[in-house]
Amino acid sequence: MFVDSHCHLSFPDLAPQLPEIRQAMQQAQVDRALCICTTLEEFADVHALALGYDNFWCTVGVHPDNEGVQEPTVQDLIGRAALPRVVAIGETGLDYYQMDERKGGRTTGDMEWQRERFRRHIRAAQQVSKPLVIHTRAASADTLAILKEEGEDGGPQAAGGVFHCFTETAEVARAALDLGYYISFSGILTFKSAQDLRDVAAFVPLDRMLIETDSPYLAPVPFRGKINNPSYVPHVAAQIAQIRGLPVQDIGHMTSRNFERLFPAAV
Ligand SMILES: [Zn+2]
Ligand SMILES: [Zn+2]
Repeated sequence: MFVDSHCHLSFPDLAPQLPEIRQAMQQAQVDRALCICTTLEEFADVHALALGYDNFWCTVGVHPDNEGVQEPTVQDLIGRAALPRVVAIGETGLDYYQMDERKGGRTTGDMEWQRERFRRHIRAAQQVSKPLVIHTRAASADTLAILKEEGEDGGPQAAGGVFHCFTETAEVARAALDLGYYISFSGILTFKSAQDLRDVAAFVPLDRMLIETDSPYLAPVPFRGKINNPSYVPHVAAQIAQIRGLPVQDIGHMTSRNFERLFPAAV
């Protein structure tokens, strides 16, 4: 009934617990998960999850925060995207969060390598006609501008995709929706401090939203601070249900249908 549209089951916090996690998913009625790739080095592990279990699928991409890893060419991405059970390109995008602490005092002007990497992911997605899983943090203006410059404006060549772990403003949500993109909410939606985000979840059309854990990070209330896993995704759905005044089952069904529409190869 529930789909976790974004998790990192290959990460060391989760991989050794896979049998227990799969059991917990079943008990929580989380019947599918999309395993997200963050480096080419990691791709074989992520792909093995998708090949090994008939309710897992995967992506290929290099996260904008990852440096000192293999830099993907368009062909690197296209080649892996053509493999069985690889249903999307990402996660990719821009991350300008805490440049001083996290990027050694560099400025956004120094992040041209991120923008170039992002453009290669978009071009690969368009060539293989698979959607993009977008990560954007403190960089929404450039993210939206690059998507438009690369033709992601709803036209026939557009790959489309999802803004994952959405934490941006209502204006950014509207701009993403205008591009034809989906919005995915994580456990952040359940955090006490996240009223602005709940206001966004109040207006995003029900046929354009997804739910995710982004596990092992960002466990929803009441598990906040613990290691997250896909079996917790119904807590995100329950928060949306409360905001929209609908039964949680309805949110589970609608977000599952949206997942199938966005990732038609994941069925
Ligand atoms: Zn992300
Ligand atoms: Zn992620």
